[in-house]
Amino acid sequence: MLIVMRRDATTEQIEAVIRAIENRGFAARPIPGGDRISIGVLYNQGAVDAAIFQELPGVKETIPVTRPYKLVSREFQRHDTRIPIGDLVIGGDRLLIIGGPCAVESEDQVMTIAEHVRNAGGDILRGGAFKPRTSPYAFQGLGEAGLKILAKARDAFGLPVITEVLDLACFDMVEAYADIIQIGTRNMQNFSLLRRAGESRKPVMLKRGMSATVDEWLMAAEYIMTEGNPNVILCERGVRTFVRHSRNTLDLSAIPVVRRESHLPVFVDPSHACGFRDQVMPLARASAAVNAHGMMIEVHHAPEMAKCDGGQSLLPGQFEILCRQARAIHEIAREG
Ligand code: PEP
Ligand code: MN
Repeated sequence: MLIVMRRDATTEQIEAVIRAIENRGFAARPIPGGDRISIGVLYNQGAVDAAIFQELPGVKETIPVTRPYKLVSREFQRHDTRIPIGDLVIGGDRLLIIGGPCAVESEDQVMTIAEHVRNAGGDILRGGAFKPRTSPYAFQGLGEAGLKILAKARDAFGLPVITEVLDLACFDMVEAYADIIQIGTRNMQNFSLLRRAGESRKPVMLKRGMSATVDEWLMAAEYIMTEGNPNVILCERGVRTFVRHSRNTLDLSAIPVVRRESHLPVFVDPSHACGFRDQVMPLARASAAVNAHGMMIEVHHAPEMAKCDGGQSLLPGQFEILCRQARAIHEIAREG
């Protein structure tokens, strides 16, 4: 349940409502919004008796929350979450484009690609230093050396960096270097990792689990938010189906659903969804058309030499065209 306070509610009245919630064994979560404060009721099993709260001084109304997720839901927060990162705003009006290699391979490689990403109009640099690979024999990433290279590229080109955290063991280290912490599809329901991400002050991008429903994905985001981190970005990256013409199936219908159900920004990663270079561009255009807040694209200047996901990486020239086309489509899509 959400308790909406009157515009002129006093601090004492707000505190009394919080106490009334806690006295019943629930948790209270104040949510500032515009000119009034609302207080969310958490940890209730089943419906809460609204009458008790409706009578308290300063309370305007109580709104039942019908969804299993609360902090991530539009019922709790009507306005879109906007996350500032340097000069950028994630979840704002501008389509944000993340570009970069699947994995950090060397300083030369990252510097070369970062320059292309910046010149093409990309906003954020990606690159994995800790790689979740299906095979233990595949390249696992450079670890801290890779994070240092990303930090160098950020300083050289002014691009914030996003990189994946694989487990609790590397969390502090990734958190120290990254501007945005990425939780990958394979970790979407790693609840201890989600809770740790919730304690972070850095924004977290939560990729959809490859077999997760939208509800499960939003509940995973709820884990992060309940620990106190409001800056969660969702990322659709394709789900596992029976098809063989692409690596996964990009579920673009999830984007309008997530935008309706949640106030959190939602991105699309067409690269991991399809797995093939020739499918990335059309799927990126479609991602802009369904009004995603941004996208994540793998880019490599020499994809045939890439240690990871070269076959789905765009060449810099292709990435430049993608940025231009996606932004033009986004302008039309956000009108309606
Ligand atoms: C990635 O973005 O590097 C990645 C491994 O993606 P996903 O978790 O979506 O497979
Ligand atoms: Mn990849």
